[in-house]
Amino acid sequence: MLSIHTIRHMRLQPGALLRAVLSGMALVMAQAVVSQTPLGLNPTQVGLNDTSAHRISDEIWQATGFGNTFMVITDQGNVIIDTSLPATAPRHKQLLQAVSDAPVRYIVLTHAHGDHTGGVQLWREEGTEIIAHSEHEEFMHYQTRLAGMFALRNAAQFPDLPRPTGNAAQAAQSNPGNYEARIQPTILFDRDYAFELGGLTFEILHTPGETYDHLSVWIPELKAVFVGDNFYGSFPNIYTLRGTKPRWALDYVNSLNKVLALQPDIMIPSHGDAIHGNAMINQAVSKYRDAILHVHDQTVAGMNQGKDVYTLMQEITLPDDLNIGEEYGAISWTVRGIYEGYMGWFDGNPANMYATPPAAVYADLVALGGGADKVAELSQQYLEGGDAVRAMHMADVALTADPVNVPALQARLAALQQLLTDSANSNEAGWLRHGINETRARLNQP
Ligand SMILES: [Zn+2]
Repeated sequence: MLSIHTIRHMRLQPGALLRAVLSGMALVMAQAVVSQTPLGLNPTQVGLNDTSAHRISDEIWQATGFGNTFMVITDQGNVIIDTSLPATAPRHKQLLQAVSDAPVRYIVLTHAHGDHTGGVQLWREEGTEIIAHSEHEEFMHYQTRLAGMFALRNAAQFPDLPRPTGNAAQAAQSNPGNYEARIQPTILFDRDYAFELGGLTFEILHTPGETYDHLSVWIPELKAVFVGDNFYGSFPNIYTLRGTKPRWALDYVNSLNKVLALQPDIMIPSHGDAIHGNAMINQAVSKYRDAILHVHDQTVAGMNQGKDVYTLMQEITLPDDLNIGEEYGAISWTVRGIYEGYMGWFDGNPANMYATPPAAVYADLVALGGGADKVAELSQQYLEGGDAVRAMHMADVALTADPVNVPALQARLAALQQLLTDSANSNEAGWLRHGINETRARLNQP
């Protein structure tokens, strides 16, 4: 059984699902998200009914949303940290400016994902400095370069997502150019950067993890640290199904260690709620870090023993004391992300060096097995035996031979529906819904 199945056996932490849904979804190029989770939560609704900004301390205020916006108030003007999505930014600005409408002196972007950069133009004033890490430039170009592909993947993973403007399929075929992103920051730094404003020091540290350009902001006078998307309430999306460059597990570990070394009293993630108290922060961040390190080290050990990626996806789990939930990221996807991040796509089987895929012989096997209807029967038997993933593979084999075979399409649909019923992971659920819609369309069902 594929280890994605382990997701539904994991213990849920209180509030973890909501925080996970809100967290690092990192929707590249997406304009908004309306993705129902298995429990019916809708991340775009979070904070929508807020009539005021949330006070974290006298100086730090949060507007909550799919991507929070923070305002740090000083007597020489304000600093904005992250700016949420374009659709949410106007409301966030309204709520935060009700607290203080002093000049915006700096905007700091924890990273280049669209749910953090969407309000930059809105907040920017004459003379506002915009700070990001130097990797921000390439990350923006990368997202623009592959805008069509990301549009297709986001539309699949988040089926309820309002489509980005323009035709995604058309965009997928276009070449927007390699270096065409609009680069908004006025200050790009490599290792770290610091400035003072109104008696507060803003120490900005490069903390790669969710992205290469990820940074954290430390204000020593307040013992407060902003950690962007490097921490949230589920195992992180170290590989995300919509597609991403590798996210390096050891980058997360090292960056979280940098955060711990600051000994913060307030830790402020860009999705979910701030954690107050150094002991609480230490406990949460250490567990999170150790969970990532455990999966990394187990994967490396298995690779060095010559184990294949599927074996490790099935074998590697978290011990109970490191269980941080898998409602957003998943251990098995992370194992594969680490494995293929380190080794790339080739699995060591000479048959797989070539452009002819295994599926090229499926039609012959189906003929040998008595035809697509027979293979669809096997699929149904797997499903009845409780193995929906094998059922789906078997249906796919039949459909390679006969793409409109109704029993195979019905078996595939039933397998997908069973997996969706059992799913407790919002990203898994998104792709299952995508598969269901696609299979229904092939069956001409509404
Ligand atoms: Zn985010």
